[in-house]
Amino acid sequence: MRMDFPHPHFANCKVRASPHGGGGIRVRVPVRLPRLIGFLVVAVIGFSIPVGAVTGPAPVFKQIADGVYAYIGKRNDANALVIVTSQGVVLADTGNNNSDSRAILKDIQSVTNQPVRYIIITQNHGDHIGGTPLFSPPAQVILQERAAKNWAGWSQYQINSWRKRFAERAGALKDVNPLDTVISFASHMTLHLGGREIDLIYVDDKYNPGDVAVWLPKEGVLHASFAGYRERHPDIRPDYSHGTTEGMLKQLDAYIALKPRIMIPAHGPLGGVRDLSVMIDYLLLARHKVQDMMDRHMALPEIEKTFDMHEYRDWERTEHLSWTADTIYRELNGEGPLVIKSERKQVSGTVASAMDDGRFVTLKGDDGTEVHLRIGADTDVDGIADRTLVKPGMRLNAIYDVPENVNPALGYDAVQVTIQ
Ligand SMILES: [Zn+2]
Repeated sequence: MRMDFPHPHFANCKVRASPHGGGGIRVRVPVRLPRLIGFLVVAVIGFSIPVGAVTGPAPVFKQIADGVYAYIGKRNDANALVIVTSQGVVLADTGNNNSDSRAILKDIQSVTNQPVRYIIITQNHGDHIGGTPLFSPPAQVILQERAAKNWAGWSQYQINSWRKRFAERAGALKDVNPLDTVISFASHMTLHLGGREIDLIYVDDKYNPGDVAVWLPKEGVLHASFAGYRERHPDIRPDYSHGTTEGMLKQLDAYIALKPRIMIPAHGPLGGVRDLSVMIDYLLLARHKVQDMMDRHMALPEIEKTFDMHEYRDWERTEHLSWTADTIYRELNGEGPLVIKSERKQVSGTVASAMDDGRFVTLKGDDGTEVHLRIGADTDVDGIADRTLVKPGMRLNAIYDVPENVNPALGYDAVQVTIQ
């Protein structure tokens, strides 16, 4: 079943998030100078990001308001938000890896007998949507309509991957299409469930791929969707698949206007409204740096190489930086998203290393080449229950995409992986 508005539990409500300042000019170029200068001044006099603020080696399930819990991923893996009501549980995001999804389910069952009734996807990426088939059906999945459109275009391998992701669910999902349980909305939706008000906020931008913030006005709790980052360089890409810095700035403005008491970032430790401002400072500084290099007529490859964010030296995922520079360069030039053509290739070999629960795998190909693969939530994995079981020494066959003219900083995306 696929539904659009209206639905018995939802009411088209006033938008509570109104971007203050809104206009395009302030995000075209970094003109928020007072804030930027203020930031640079504190940076110079010794402001530093607290060391070790990254989340710990094990996930944490923490109560943050009455009946409201945060699942904080290990080592800055994706977070999730759990809202318990007398009419079922609402879950925002579904866990970075299968192990997280199962842990979230167990954590929910440890605090309530209510079933998971709705899943909200705050950003349409594997580390946030991957656990959905563990809960749905029967849970219904709420997507912003751009994300729903993306799901409607999935290839068969992605649907196969979806159905097989959790071995214990294979039977139940055999004939289920991921779209069958989707409810989509355009700009905002309020979910009234068991006496709670849960606002879903989409901040419109040409390239917003369907990010949804989750706001509990009574509790002052906000899941800040893609724009909520702490201690981690954001994953912005030149194909705009994760939006743009301009779009992120709009989101951050809208979320700050809500004045959340507790902010759940997509990745990283719990924070508050101040952390959203830190991200604005970060993005403005990043845009300023790229603009400055463009003004000096540096070519893109040189900009990518030179770009650094040493002011945030303790943040993780520095491998995102070259893509960030590339994306900002395109944005400031008024270019649209990079259209990436790719060639499908096949490799057989032996696993040399498997990192991050099998997300990043290095393969020693039989022809002697080394191939870095990224096994995403939509990779069709055969021969083992899931990617977390990929171990060095295993024989592996992979079909993967090699993008043209793009530095595959995180590895080639695997379409299908078969353990022999
Ligand atoms: Zn993520």
